Amino acid sequence: MQNLVILGSTGSIGTQTLEVIDKLNGFNIFALSAGKNIELLKKQIEKYKPEIVCIQDEKDIKELKNYNVKVLFAKEGLMELANDEKADIFVVATSTTVSVEAVIAAIKNKKKIALANKETLVMAGDIVMKTAKENNVSIIPIDSEHSAILQCLNNLENEYAKRLWITASGGPFLNNSRDEMQNFKAKDALNHPKWNMGKKITVDCSTLVNKGLEVIEAHHLFDFDYDNIKVVIHPQSIVHSFVEFVDGSFLAQMGVASMHIPIQYALTYPSRFEGIKTDSFNPIGKNLEFLEPDLEKFPLLKLAINCGKQGGIMPAIYNAANETAVYKFLNNQINFLDIEKIVFETVENTNNITNPTLEEIFEIDKKIRKDLAFIAE
Ligand code: MG
Repeated sequence: MQNLVILGSTGSIGTQTLEVIDKLNGFNIFALSAGKNIELLKKQIEKYKPEIVCIQDEKDIKELKNYNVKVLFAKEGLMELANDEKADIFVVATSTTVSVEAVIAAIKNKKKIALANKETLVMAGDIVMKTAKENNVSIIPIDSEHSAILQCLNNLENEYAKRLWITASGGPFLNNSRDEMQNFKAKDALNHPKWNMGKKITVDCSTLVNKGLEVIEAHHLFDFDYDNIKVVIHPQSIVHSFVEFVDGSFLAQMGVASMHIPIQYALTYPSRFEGIKTDSFNPIGKNLEFLEPDLEKFPLLKLAINCGKQGGIMPAIYNAANETAVYKFLNNQINFLDIEKIVFETVENTNNITNPTLEEIFEIDKKIRKDLAFIAE
């Protein structure tokens, strides 16, 4: 039995991880962490009986007084989990920066990491990957694109692979003009054509920010230069990404658009099991289109790649500005195209720091969130 810790158990990836575990042998739910959804956490405690839970807010402890479970709090609680000898695997499914330090601590303690959280590599990719290498820890991606690339690379040496091709559905506004996009509201952006995900990431799909963050992640995870990572729009979301090899071969990973598959693969890597039954994929009659992304229409994709190339604190700046802007958009405080305006202005007005420490990264992250909370009102 391997002891599993799920950080962000009540979110989209967290709940789907538990569905995968229901059909998989060999895993024990050792600990769960959650933000504000205490009602769902209670149901999870009843069903999975974890030894420990970590909640964001100390005042919610009264809700858990009738449960036989140790309760930890906030970032300190996550650090305690990262240092717990009994924990074997961390599924990192938080949707913010809250878990970044705990993940680095877990890597130092040689825990296996199944990573869905984007901020970990976007903000601190150099530090995280260096720490993983020093401790001989593999970071297995849960994101469908990175899982696809991992499956296509199949432990081959990087020298055989020439380019990574990351597919993007194009989001709900693929066929809309900039004029139309100007007036879009949160409800329009939340109507994703292919994937069912959390709200923040769904908005990030509509701006193609999500793809930009995924390029930065792929650069760190697979140690590829940005010039050898290519984004391609694939509206059918059947091919989850592909790898181009030096001999001209392309290997693609295909299937239904279900996160159950990459979640399970991350847990059982490199083995495969039947596990949860997803709708079976039938390639007969399917047309596959691959289109060049329109960087004029979706300039935040290009900006993400530029920030990635500059390195230092630029990806963290981009991420913090975007996240703040997206929450304002979700609260109907700003219009759709204001998201890119805010991110561009913030990136242009902040100076880079090369080889930043983790403290410097968090400092700039905090500063940008604080500044923007006032400016964008
Ligand atoms: Mg993805």
